[in-house]
Parts: sequence; structure tokens; C-alpha cells
Amino acid sequence: MRKKIVVLSGAGISAESGIATFRDADGLWEGHDVMAVATPEGFEKDPELVLEFYNQRRKNGLQAKPNAGHLALAKLEQKYNVVIVTQNVDNLHERAGSTHVIHLHGELFKSRSTADPSLVYDMEGWELKLGDHCEKGSQLRPNIVWFGEAVPLMDTAVMEAALADIFIVVGTSLAVYPAAGLMDYVADEVPKYVVDPNPPPVRKRPNLQLIADKASAGLTRLAEELLAL
Ligand code: NAD
Repeated sequence: MRKKIVVLSGAGISAESGIATFRDADGLWEGHDVMAVATPEGFEKDPELVLEFYNQRRKNGLQAKPNAGHLALAKLEQKYNVVIVTQNVDNLHERAGSTHVIHLHGELFKSRSTADPSLVYDMEGWELKLGDHCEKGSQLRPNIVWFGEAVPLMDTAVMEAALADIFIVVGTSLAVYPAAGLMDYVADEVPKYVVDPNPPPVRKRPNLQLIADKASAGLTRLAEELLAL
């Protein structure tokens, strides 16, 4: 049976594709206070601002291309069963060819009903406006897990992490819970790699290797090593 690699990725893996990270910019996300644009309260207060913020993220996302880091993870599928648990809302893992991606914090290119969270729609272009309705007539919102909201796919991610034979963390400051705690579910004997030019503080644990490099170079090297095993 193929070994399972579980990857936890964050905004840093998309940095070299031209998508800004969040904490590298003093807690502002593209110049905005996250509480204004990434919380249910922010949406209630100024839905137009929030919709426009994500419209801009979508425009930017459409221009971005997967980088060598995304591609290296996709290539690992030649030999491994790879599950990517991403905090990213962009679709660059999928566009690089990864086939099993769990979007913990939602997906930029999907919208969902404000009245019925089970009504989720693929988006054609970049624009979501006030007045865009679901089939039941309620306003649509971005299909994003905002700060303060539950993370419905966390249980699935924990189950995958517990079954990992190899665990890779890339491009995350490990500041947002519950995602940041995922490594705690990985067994001691499992090799764990953290790829980040400025690695986040991780508790010392067995079989942990820090690779202080950018995603493109660090993951390309690591994937070559793992494919050669
Ligand atoms: P973060 O911004 O908090 O941390 C980014 C991490 O990436 C840092 O540790 C930084 O050192 C590292 N990094 C910077 N450049 C890198 C590179 N070239 N290669 C590898 N690592 C690099 O990101 P986070 O931990 O993912 O938390 C941000 C939250 O905001 C997430 O919950 C996410 O949903 C959201 N977000 C998503 C996107 C996206 O979808 N691309 C972008 C920004 C923010």
C-alpha cells in the first residue's frame, strides 16, 4: 500500500505566486483590518466592503499561477497517497494537479447562501455582489470560514493527520487555531518537516526537521528526496 503524506499548507506557499500572506504584513490583510473583512460581524456591518474585498482576492487569484512548491507537492502523488490540508482559500494546489485537497478555511471561488450553509455554488468569474441570491432567495456570501466561525472540516483533517506516514508543514505561521494544532495528532515516529524561510515556533518533538527555505526551493528538494526513497 502507498504511504500517506499529509501536508498542512498556509499562505506562505502561495507567496511566490504573488498572493500576499497575512501575518507578514503586520496583521493587515492587503491593507485591511481582518476583523473588518474576515468576520461575520464585519460582513453584517458592511457587506459591500467584504464582498468587494473578496472580489479583489478573486481577481488576484485568477492572475496567479501555481509555483514550484505547489507543483512539487502534486508530483509526490507519483509515489504517495498525498492529502493536502490547506488553510488557503486560493485554488493553486488543485491547479498544480493535487487531487486530494481539504480547504479548512473555505474556497475563494465558491459562494454560499447566508440562509442555508448547505447551498454552495461554484463561481464563474470574480464578482459577487449585493443582490446575488441563492435558489431560496437569500443573499450569497463568500464560501470562506471567517474568524470566529466553526471549522467543519477540522475533524476530517485530524483523522488524516493521525494516519500520516510523513507530515509536512509549509508556509504557515501556525497562529490560527484549530489548524495550528494539527501536528499534535501526528504520531511520534512519523517524520515531520517544516518548510518556511522564517519557521514558526514549533514545540520540540521527535523526528522533526526544520527546512528554513522558501516553498519553491524547499519543497522541490524535499519532494526529490521523498521520491527517491
Ligand atoms: P500567515 O500569513 O499567518 O503566515 C505566513 C507564513 O508563510 C509565515 O510563517 C511566513 O514566514 C511564511 N512564508 C512567507 N513566504 C514564504 C515562502 N515563499 N515559502 C514558504 N513560506 C513562506 O499565513 P497562515 O498561517 O496561512 O494564516 C493566514 C490566514 O489567512 C489563513 O487562515 C488563510 O485562510 C488566510 N489567507 C489565505 C491566503 C491564500 O489563500 N493564499 C492568503 C492570505 C491569508
